[in-house]
Amino acid sequence: MGAAVEAMGGTRGGRDTELQVQWATACEGLRSRVGRNNFVTWIEPLQPRGLSEGVLRLSVPTRFVGDWVTRHFAQSIVEECVRAGADVTRLDLTLARPRGDADTPAPVQVPDPADPAEVEGDVADDLPGSPLDPRFTFESFVVGKPNELAHAAARRVAEGGPVAFNPLFLYGGVGLGKTHLMHAMAWEIRRSQPGLRVLYVSAEQFMYRFVDALRNKQIMDFKQLFRSVDVLMVDDVQFIAGKESTQEEFFHTFNALVDQRKQIVISADRAPGEIKDLEDRITSRLQWGLVVDLHPTDYELRLGILQTKMDAFRADDPTVSVAPDVLEFLAHKITTNVRVLEGALTRLHAFASLVGREITLELAQDCLADILRVSERRVTIEEIQRKVAEHYNIRLSDMIGPKRVRTLARPRQVAMYLAKELTARSLPEIGRRFGGRDHTTIIHGVRKVEELVSSDPQLAEDLRLLRRLLSS
Ligand code: ADP
Ligand code: MG
Repeated sequence: MGAAVEAMGGTRGGRDTELQVQWATACEGLRSRVGRNNFVTWIEPLQPRGLSEGVLRLSVPTRFVGDWVTRHFAQSIVEECVRAGADVTRLDLTLARPRGDADTPAPVQVPDPADPAEVEGDVADDLPGSPLDPRFTFESFVVGKPNELAHAAARRVAEGGPVAFNPLFLYGGVGLGKTHLMHAMAWEIRRSQPGLRVLYVSAEQFMYRFVDALRNKQIMDFKQLFRSVDVLMVDDVQFIAGKESTQEEFFHTFNALVDQRKQIVISADRAPGEIKDLEDRITSRLQWGLVVDLHPTDYELRLGILQTKMDAFRADDPTVSVAPDVLEFLAHKITTNVRVLEGALTRLHAFASLVGREITLELAQDCLADILRVSERRVTIEEIQRKVAEHYNIRLSDMIGPKRVRTLARPRQVAMYLAKELTARSLPEIGRRFGGRDHTTIIHGVRKVEELVSSDPQLAEDLRLLRRLLSS
């Protein structure tokens, strides 16, 4: 398609001038026929490229404009051209500026954000998307088992090349790094492929823009903007669930871009099929490409994130020092959300530079008491019993039951010990959950484990593993 347009560019001559004049005349007729607004939006961006055998070739800035013109104005255009003396029976609309084909002329008469020639400097910065956080880059993103797939997919899409996964759908709980990854992709694409137009918006922004455009009768500008980008990223798409007309518009934008082989990246707090009040057709479109989830963080990832952030702090201020077991403690205790983890570290850092000495575990616990309390994962006694029974391969009923053989008694004591350590239950309460045992039996069990753990490395290992299982 681009080649045809270029070839015609080379044959400009008298006939072309004639065509330009006829087109200008036809435009006058069209202006009054379709109305000024329609004219400016749809007709003015068209550019005559050649006329032969009754076929008028017009270039269009985007496929969307082309589709719209074909559906709504083709007949009027043909008629007005005939009136202007051009022998036109049919239109052939071609895209003026296919992706990556920068040499093709961009036939735009009105200022058009889709045309890089109209916008000096960094094209991407002129797209009115939501702001990108400069800290959210691939460099600062710590990769671990729970997010490695999402990270790899994001990298792959940011590298560009043939559109691999479209859309890329990232989902996961709050604070697991969805927005971070999306910003990282946007930054990376801007850096490595500055010619591409990357638009990142939160779904909320998308909706507000849409509503605004409706109110100000600028809906065509809105459509044009969102359909003219090379990469569209919509964050937290669950937000538009239940908002019908926004969904409708999103659906059309989505289709138009996929049609043009433009890359789409979506994030949500849950899988496409689990977003309530999202139309089925949208759900199914969202599943076309690659759907990857960010799993809840594990201990190693949390520790990795803490160490990375701590290194960054220390690069700024080498006097700050935190005992190594503090980071391990935090990675162990704060399991919900990376944002909370970061908040804790930031506070710790501020505290450390205030007190001017190494932050010990005690100081950290003091300084973060409130955060730690909230983050305390509420493990239930039942959960502990179940996990311990699984681990030792015994039946749950035997764990609670009266049998006292050693193969059952030891796991039972381990479960008692963990119940004491990980829950806020009182000893009598724990006793009740262990088949109505007396609280002194619980004390005995807890002591037994405490006693054994220093001399029995296998038991110590079991406990470490179980704690981890129960806290993630
Ligand atoms: P989400 O959008 O999934 O709710 P964010 O991307 O906003 O989460 O992440 C919350 C915070 O946690 C951000 O400050 C982000 O930089 C940080 N974060 C999350 N995951 C990672 C990671 N793997 N490495 C480094 N920082 C992370
Ligand atoms: Mg987010």
